[in-house]
Amino acid sequence: MAKIIVANWKMNPQTSKEAEQILVSYLKLVKGGRGKVKSSEIVICPPFVYLNSFRKKLQTPNSKLQIKLGAQDVFWEEEGAFTGEVSVKMISDLGCSHVIIGHSERRRYLNETDEMINKKVPVALKAGLKIILCVGEHHRENIHEIPKVVEEQVAAALNGVQKSHVGKIIIAYEPVWAIGTGTPDTPEGAMMAAVLIRKTAMNILGLAAKNLPVLYGGSVSALNVEKFISHDGIDGVLIGGASLDPEEFAKIVLSANS
Ligand code: PEP
Repeated sequence: MAKIIVANWKMNPQTSKEAEQILVSYLKLVKGGRGKVKSSEIVICPPFVYLNSFRKKLQTPNSKLQIKLGAQDVFWEEEGAFTGEVSVKMISDLGCSHVIIGHSERRRYLNETDEMINKKVPVALKAGLKIILCVGEHHRENIHEIPKVVEEQVAAALNGVQKSHVGKIIIAYEPVWAIGTGTPDTPEGAMMAAVLIRKTAMNILGLAAKNLPVLYGGSVSALNVEKFISHDGIDGVLIGGASLDPEEFAKIVLSANS
């Protein structure tokens, strides 16, 4: 299966000029006329305000590279008096095929709860978006055991989701202690989590969730990406900090294709 590589730019960079510069340098590096980058699905999730210009840049006619656009969040209501929020239709209209839901920074700083996440999931799926659902524990006391909270977050987010939507669900295992710290989980830890996540998803969505893509995220870099993606059970990576450096991100993408 093609590996999935998701870039989460978070609230960076600060100007549209800088954002376009990063995207253009990155495109130059990965295209390189070698047609190498074919076997992975790349999704770039910039801040909402850059989506429109990114869509235009990614649609250039002779771009062989298939890069998809994702939003970093979406609201659960479809329209109306919800100041500051952004709807599924708005992000689809701006060319997004994917949306991140439940990132730990939103859970932490915006008090997003499992209930709120569970309201966003079906709305995004119904709109035809692919969701990248983020789950992960704050601390791990026993390195040989994935905390129950991971299972609980998956079960709560997918509760009531229609089985027919299984093909549009991607889950990113992102232990909070590994995000932005420079200390990634071990590939074995990520594998254990992926097994638990798929098992939990299968309890809700049935056998079709057996092949549900599970990504790893948390301090992934060009130096360690290979260790994660070389496992069959890890279907790709979600990258924060390293995705803002075009050279580093290009190296990660090329590793996933080698
Ligand atoms: C993230 O933002 O989800 C993330 C994994 O960040 P980083 O790669 O910087 O740890």
